[in-house]
Amino acid sequence: MKVLLVFAHPEPRSLNGALRDVAIKELEAQGQQVKVSDLYADRWKSEVDRADFPPLAPDARLKPAAASGEAFAADALTDDVRAEQAKLRWADVLILQFPLWWFSMPAILKGWVDRVYAYGFAYGVGEHSDKRWGDRYGEGTLAGKRAMLIVTAGGWAEHYAERGINGSIDDLLFPINHGILYYPGYDVLPPFVAYRVDSLDETGFEPVAERLRERMRTLATIPPIPYRRQNGGDYLIPSMQLRPDLGKPGVTGLALHVDA
Ligand SMILES: Cc1cc2nc3c(=O)[nH]c(=O)nc-3n(C[C@H](O)[C@H](O)[C@H](O)COP(=O)(O)OP(=O)(O)OC[C@H]3O[C@@H](n4cnc5c(N)ncnc54)[C@H](O)[C@@H]3O)c2cc1C
Repeated sequence: MKVLLVFAHPEPRSLNGALRDVAIKELEAQGQQVKVSDLYADRWKSEVDRADFPPLAPDARLKPAAASGEAFAADALTDDVRAEQAKLRWADVLILQFPLWWFSMPAILKGWVDRVYAYGFAYGVGEHSDKRWGDRYGEGTLAGKRAMLIVTAGGWAEHYAERGINGSIDDLLFPINHGILYYPGYDVLPPFVAYRVDSLDETGFEPVAERLRERMRTLATIPPIPYRRQNGGDYLIPSMQLRPDLGKPGVTGLALHVDA
């Protein structure tokens, strides 16, 4: 199995750095091939701007999606972006690893998504008509591959439970799991989340590391989150509404899109 780990922490000696090393060591011990994109170490450019689209005429108005589609179709995206796309095509499993910053991913990782997920590669894929709304949400360029998050959080698990003040972790990670990973086709595995990490000491590290090793051992077998497929009959097209007869009574909001 080929695994790409995209790492977004500025300090290699951090807890995240230590957990990344644990994950890689475990994967390699199982004979998996691992590549790492270390965004801070690579000085990843996170902002989308016209330098990303070499075919764009200097005086042309920049429309990011259109410019992205044109550059992707012409195989003229910048080298850094094309290298990441090649790694995504190569990998059977994608892991995004980051500390939770303001209830989401660090900006550098969001910028990786913004730039690597070009139009024609991760969105704008497939037939768009009144019968079909493209290949996305379970279908698309990256279908058949698996993806998961490794996240550390300062807050407690209880703070991120169903009734916790921060909102449930499933809701907070939904835009990443569903909007970024499921959208271009990945089967999304449950996230690995380590809570209350700011007060972690060396004794506390080992149980977290062991839990992570176990997740690395089950990458190929753990069932994905059962998100509903866009083109599987659950949604009305083109309104993209979940059919009124689906969804358990009392279930509302983001949980409607999980067929549990
Ligand atoms: C801008 C910002 C926004 C934030 N927003 C949120 C938020 O929205 N929600 C939330 O819950 N939290 C938030 N936090 C907290 C953040 O999620 C944590 O600080 C982060 O997850 C800790 O990960 P780290 O890798 O930076 O840990 P580090 O600071 O590197 O380490 C954390 C602890 O682990 C210990 N440790 C134990 N073993 C090891 C080892 N082997 N190697 C290294 N360290 C070890 C360290 O000594 C330290 O005490 C935010 C923090 C910042 C800076």
